[in-house]
Amino acid sequence: MIKRFFKTFLLLELCKGLGVTLRALFIKKSTLRYPEEKTPLSPRFRALHALRRYPNGEERCIGCKLCEAVCPALAITIDTHQREDGTRRTTRYDIDLIKCIFCGFCEEACPVDAIVETSIHEYHGEKRGDLYYTKEMLLAIGDKYESVIAKSRDADKNYR
Ligand code: SF4
Ligand code: SF4
Repeated sequence: MIKRFFKTFLLLELCKGLGVTLRALFIKKSTLRYPEEKTPLSPRFRALHALRRYPNGEERCIGCKLCEAVCPALAITIDTHQREDGTRRTTRYDIDLIKCIFCGFCEEACPVDAIVETSIHEYHGEKRGDLYYTKEMLLAIGDKYESVIAKSRDADKNYR
């Protein structure tokens, strides 16, 4: 009883708590002021998808539909047609990012490195349709970020 009285009277628990706060003032901070400060991202980071082209401007995707078949979330929809020269290309390549779980299976399955996941994670949609990415949108992302994508792929090439 007496011990408890003195503990309460001298505010020992409060002093202990303030001691923790005081110690925390001097340790290295692990929080960042996002978005001004950012952590480094791994070259394997999986976020927004992109469709890539070859340096001559030709689409890499050959419409094999492996990515569509492997996608566990059924997020990819592809239609294809055969061109006059006998090659096959997509007429439709859509990804519903609401369904996507960013597992990376699509890029792993792709034999020509056409569909990739970039490290762009700062995007949003205000309605469901905004996160439905069409072939044109995916190609535009690929065109815009090709140098970053190529750099990430190169950094990870020994592990693929
Ligand atoms: S990352 Fe996974 S869930 Fe998303 S589209 Fe690719 S295979 Fe489908
Ligand atoms: S993105 Fe790759 S896996 Fe998917 S259809 Fe095109 S070539 Fe095939």
